[in-house]
Amino acid sequence: MLVVMRQEASADAIDRVVTTIESMGYEARPIPGKQRTAVGLIGNDGRVDSARLEGLEGVLEVIAVSHPYKQVSREWRSEDTVVTLPNGTRIGGREIAVMAGPCAVESEEQIVGIARTLRAMGATILRGGAFKPRTSPYSFQGLGEEGLILLARAREATGMAIVTEALDREGLDLVVEYADIIQIGARNMQNYPLLRMAGQSEKPVLLKRGMSATIKELLLAAEYLLAEGNSQVILCERGVRSFDTHTRNLLDLTSIPVVQALSHLPIIADPSHGTGIRSKVTPMARAAVAAGADGLMVEVHPHPEMALSDGAQSLFPEQFEELMAQIRVISQALDRELVAPLDAPGVDDTSAVPKSAEVA
Ligand code: PEP
Ligand code: MN
Repeated sequence: MLVVMRQEASADAIDRVVTTIESMGYEARPIPGKQRTAVGLIGNDGRVDSARLEGLEGVLEVIAVSHPYKQVSREWRSEDTVVTLPNGTRIGGREIAVMAGPCAVESEEQIVGIARTLRAMGATILRGGAFKPRTSPYSFQGLGEEGLILLARAREATGMAIVTEALDREGLDLVVEYADIIQIGARNMQNYPLLRMAGQSEKPVLLKRGMSATIKELLLAAEYLLAEGNSQVILCERGVRSFDTHTRNLLDLTSIPVVQALSHLPIIADPSHGTGIRSKVTPMARAAVAAGADGLMVEVHPHPEMALSDGAQSLFPEQFEELMAQIRVISQALDRELVAPLDAPGVDDTSAVPKSAEVA
C-alpha cells in the first residue's frame, strides 16, 4: 500500500503517517520524490484499514498495491483448486461439471423423475431448491426439510450429487446434513454471518455472485469462507443487473477469465438466472463453456409450464440433452471434457434413506 502525500505536506505530517503505520503494526518506508513524498506500507496482510491513513493531514490518496483478498488469490496458491464430490465429480480441473435440475423441489415424482432423466443425459450433480429466496413473500417458498429429504431420495436413486441453497443458520445445518454442496445464493453473497457459518462447515460451498456485486466483492465474499477454514469453494457467475430490460440479468462472461487470472478457485456459470429466458439459456451456456467456465448450473424441469418457480427460464429435458451434446464438442475444442456420466445403472432403492428422513 502506498500513502501519497500532498506536495505541500510538512515533514511533521509525513512523520505522523509513518508513526500511524508503525502503530498499526506495519513497517513504513518514506519514498521522497521530486514533487511529493509517498510512504510505503510494508506487510499488508489484508487487514489494513486504509481509512485511518486517508484521514491524516497531508495525505492526498492511498493506493492499494496488492489485492485485499489473500487466500482466494493466485499469489496465495498458484495451482487450481479442484473440488471433489463423493460421487467422484471433480470441479476445477480439466473436466467440466454440469449441475442441472428444477429451480425448486416440488414433489418426489418431479425430483426423482427429472434426476433419472438428467443422469441419463450425463449430468452428475442435481440442483433443486428446498429453501427458496423468492422476491415476493406470496410466491412458493420451497418445501423446506421435506424438499431436502426428496433430494436425498433422488441421490439414492441416481447417485447424483446434490446442490441446494441455504438461506439462514437453521437451513444451513439441514443443508449440511442432506446435501453434497451448500449453495449460497446471489441475495446472500454478502450475508457475512451466513458465509462464516458455511466457512466452518465441512461441505463444499457454491457461492453465487450477487446481482450488483463486483468481481472484487465476490472474491472478498469467498475470502470469508476460506478465512474460516473451508477451501472447497466454487464460484458462480449468474448475471448482474443492467440497464437493459431484454433479459432478467446480464450474464457477465468476462468474469470467468478475469476470476481465473485472479483466483485459484473454480468458477461455473448459471445461464438460467443469467438470462431468465429459456431460448437464451442454451446459447449462453455454450458461450460460458467456450469462455472457460469449469462447469454449468442449468435449470431443467419436466414440465416448465407447470413449474412453481422459474418455469420461463427452465429448459425442457430434450433441450438439455441437445445442450449436453453441443458443450461436449465445445469442451473438446478447448482440450477439456465433460465429467464422465455416472456409469452404474440407477439403484431404485429408497429404503436406504434413514427412517427419520421419511416424508410425513
Ligand atoms: C437459484 O439457483 O435457484 C437461485 C435462486 O439463484 P440466484 O441466487 O443466483 O438468484
Ligand atoms: Mn431459479
